[in-house]
Amino acid sequence: MPHVITQSCCSDGSCVYACPVNCIHPSPDEPGFATAEMLYIDPVACVDCGACVSACPVGAIAPDTRLTDTQLPFIELNAAFYPKRETKLPPTSKLAPVLEAPVVHPRPGGPLRVAVVGSGPAAMYAADELLTQQGVRVNVFEKLPTPYGLVRAGVAPDHQSTKRVTKLFERVARLPGFSFYLNCEVGSDLTHDELLEHHHAVLYAVGAPDDRRLDVPGMGLPGTSTATEIVAWFNGHPEYAGLPVDLSGERVLIVGNGNVALDVARILTTEPDALARTDIADHALDALRASQVREVVIAARRGPAASAFTLPELIGLTSACEVVLDTADHDLVIRDLAHEADPLTRNKLEILAGLGQACDSRGGRPRIRLTYGLTPKRVLGEHAATGVEFAVTGTDEVREISADLVLTSIGYRGKPIRGLPFDDVAAVVPNDGGRVLDPQTSRPVPGSFVAGWIKRGPTGFIGTNKSCAAQTVHNLVADYNNGLLTDPVHKVASLDRFVRGRQPAVVDAAGWKAIDDAEIGRGGELRPRVKFTTVAGMVEAAACAPSPPVHQRLLAGLRR
Ligand code: NAP
Repeated sequence: MPHVITQSCCSDGSCVYACPVNCIHPSPDEPGFATAEMLYIDPVACVDCGACVSACPVGAIAPDTRLTDTQLPFIELNAAFYPKRETKLPPTSKLAPVLEAPVVHPRPGGPLRVAVVGSGPAAMYAADELLTQQGVRVNVFEKLPTPYGLVRAGVAPDHQSTKRVTKLFERVARLPGFSFYLNCEVGSDLTHDELLEHHHAVLYAVGAPDDRRLDVPGMGLPGTSTATEIVAWFNGHPEYAGLPVDLSGERVLIVGNGNVALDVARILTTEPDALARTDIADHALDALRASQVREVVIAARRGPAASAFTLPELIGLTSACEVVLDTADHDLVIRDLAHEADPLTRNKLEILAGLGQACDSRGGRPRIRLTYGLTPKRVLGEHAATGVEFAVTGTDEVREISADLVLTSIGYRGKPIRGLPFDDVAAVVPNDGGRVLDPQTSRPVPGSFVAGWIKRGPTGFIGTNKSCAAQTVHNLVADYNNGLLTDPVHKVASLDRFVRGRQPAVVDAAGWKAIDDAEIGRGGELRPRVKFTTVAGMVEAAACAPSPPVHQRLLAGLRR
């Protein structure tokens, strides 16, 4: 009864270190870890101890006898990663080599103090890594009153198990030395230099909040938008809650076929009653109940073998929705299959080859149609989008697809941070292993660090940020130990007063807990939560937090 990793694998590698026989790969020290679509358990070497199940922060691992029907393909998918063997391997006591925690050497300037800007996965994994050391203080600054970044606002609401990683982040937030300063924007409420007066270092883990824009005529017409905006809209992000999303037409066209495109297509075609059991925003649920959409077309500029979506997400999509291809696209899949050697890509192509023909569609729930080899040229329509004109990639042939709503899903994009250098082409902060670099001198900018998408670009999964953040923290601690970070000029105790002077409505851990409790309460029996979708609503809920008992306040004062 070997264990199996399933669709919601977050790739943070926690299972790798929990496994007593090192049967989960690729491990963070192996080549291929950074680009792996998920991690895989070797069914022959697995000793069925279940240690990985408890270590996985998103509940993605189960014994092969306890999988749901939709998870069954993952048995073969895990096995396919390993060479075929006839005999069971003897048990081994070999553990994956654990990355050493960064040892902080005490210095005269007081304990290491780090400001982390952003509160998504990269920020929380960085805080976790820093707080492995006693005495270190981590203050997390977030512009929204709610933490966890894209886990809250980017993971699709029907992927609730992925959102379980917040349980891990909650444990981090309870560690001694950790503080939240939510609803406090660095760059407007506080400056980088001011943060440095209170900390040895500022670590930016602000992600890639913009989306890449498709530079073709007609983008910006009514009826055009981006998939990332739609994701933020259905997740109740306060800046997108009022987005005008018109689902009164029959066809939605999505340009680009990454996992975000799949998320949007799935939500637009899923039975609203099923979504009503998730934490989808009420405004989105209402719009989806009234939706007239019958087909979502996902158009990629390259061929099927180059599909940007991952195999686990394709398996999840095809088990939840009707996904079809036109005959011409079926032919492209067969052509690619004839030449493809990589087993994982072959797996993807085999699933695509087994999809139904668009012309045989059953006509029940709205369907998703995948199409290939189409490079967008312009959005059609004078006053509102009516479709997209494509060139058949590599030819002069023109093809049009009509649509009532055109969404681009061509990736996220980092945006400049005030006071730090920015690489406008890669849309990242130039850095060496997370140390921000001045592009003029190629020397580190003192006290400034980055982790996550603003460091390496918008690729990978939630857990990819664990090793990314660990690398940055190791370099930060090395600089601190080597005396390269300037001591803060202000005492620890002065930060709270300073922040509250700038942003009286700052939300702390107790405030966030009050918001969290209120949202869960609003969800009642049937839903995990009903989110607040305005900052004012969140701040009002945070204000209901009970003030901590006197002994806790005294203790907090002493700790400072
Ligand atoms: P992505 O995976 O980078 O996909 C971008 C898509 O846009 C590709 O199909 C790309 O085509 C296409 N594209 C780029 N420029 C284009 C242009 N000028 N014209 C037409 N097409 C263009 O981006 P994403 O979907 O936003 O995902 C971002 C990251 O988040 C990925 O690492 C993804 O796996 C991750 N994510 C994971 C999950 C999950 O695990 N459930 C969910 C959401 C996101 P080419 O390939 O031809 O460049």
